[in-house]
Amino acid sequence: MADAPREASPTPRHIRLTSHPGQGAGGALPLHWGAADPQGRGPVVGTTTQRAQRNVVGTHSGSYGVYRALAVAAGKMVRGHRADLTDTAPTDAIGPHSAWSDPERIVSIDPWGASVQQVFAPQIAAGVDIRPTIAVTKAHVHLPEIKQALAFQRLQVDGRILLDDASAAVTKIAVEPVWWLPGVARRFGVSEADLRRALFEETGGMYPELVTRSDLEVFLPPIGGQTLYVFGRVQDLADASVTLTARVHDECNGSDVFGSDICTCRPYLTHAIEECIQGAQRGGVGLIAYSRKEGRALGEVTKFLVYNARKRQVGGDSADKYFLRTECVAGVQDMRFQELMPDVLHWLGITRIHRLVSMSNDKYDAITGSGIAVDERIKIPDALVPADARVEIEAKIAAGYFTDGAVPDASALAAVKGRGLD
Ligand SMILES: [Zn+2]
Repeated sequence: MADAPREASPTPRHIRLTSHPGQGAGGALPLHWGAADPQGRGPVVGTTTQRAQRNVVGTHSGSYGVYRALAVAAGKMVRGHRADLTDTAPTDAIGPHSAWSDPERIVSIDPWGASVQQVFAPQIAAGVDIRPTIAVTKAHVHLPEIKQALAFQRLQVDGRILLDDASAAVTKIAVEPVWWLPGVARRFGVSEADLRRALFEETGGMYPELVTRSDLEVFLPPIGGQTLYVFGRVQDLADASVTLTARVHDECNGSDVFGSDICTCRPYLTHAIEECIQGAQRGGVGLIAYSRKEGRALGEVTKFLVYNARKRQVGGDSADKYFLRTECVAGVQDMRFQELMPDVLHWLGITRIHRLVSMSNDKYDAITGSGIAVDERIKIPDALVPADARVEIEAKIAAGYFTDGAVPDASALAAVKGRGLD
């Protein structure tokens, strides 16, 4: 039996639907996406308890909102708990940058999300439940690959970026998605009505306001966000004269955390971190933008099903069937849709990436298409590609990934084989 709530909470016994126009909108602060001044823009208010204050669809914390619901249901958390934001302000000031007031440039995060404690202090003091959607802090990161790079003298301790204990000093920034639906729809070239309807239907009707409240333009989607790791001065990211080394990386738990060797994710990520450290030590700045888009945003169950399908197919795992097997299981080759990814780069004020540690044509096209210059692309060193990951990397190179080497033809691709299921 769950513990009793710490204090009696006025949990209503009746359910109040959010889908009625007029209900809850009366006392809500207006939201004018892209307005230059934060007061003119207005705060994003996704509170679940002060219903009259809500000016968005959905709520904070992405998918973790479901755990909050569990905590409330289990009596572990008082419904309506207001965050005490004392001492939570960012460790580094970021912006405002010109992109913050361009409603088409940033459509999937709240540029003011890190500084609500400051810019919306009067509204918070007046009782509006406003929460940060971005948090900025400091950390030291310890990675075995960096220790190895030190041992092989590819890296040196400098006491600023790389410390005596072989850790790297970073600023890390957590970013939750905040979607301005008219802008997201335009980014994908679809109507807002079609986008709203698909979001409504594919979440099992989870957010009725998507189709009943066209006056609510902002959606806090129940998905993972992004984490940024900055090596060097955060403010330098916005200075195009400071050399920026950057990787935009999509989550791959199997490789990133557990070292699974069927793909290049962790080796490429740690290589990028090494490049970022070297770049920062040379007077530049480094950035890893890590997006929670597990398994090409197909999810890990789909991903593991695809692994089995690849390795059990007639002829075994081969590079020429790599994308086909994914599409057979998932219905699509890739759902990461890099269209929204550059938003966070614009939030940081980035206008030029001098060294992009990525071979992905989708990422490159999205970044350059959004107006950010890319000078040089850094491929993963061949020595870092695990044997079983050759299927993936060769298939991607054949499909358009950047390489300074040979692009395999059909017969070469068919000859690239992966391991069985042993
Ligand atoms: Zn991977």
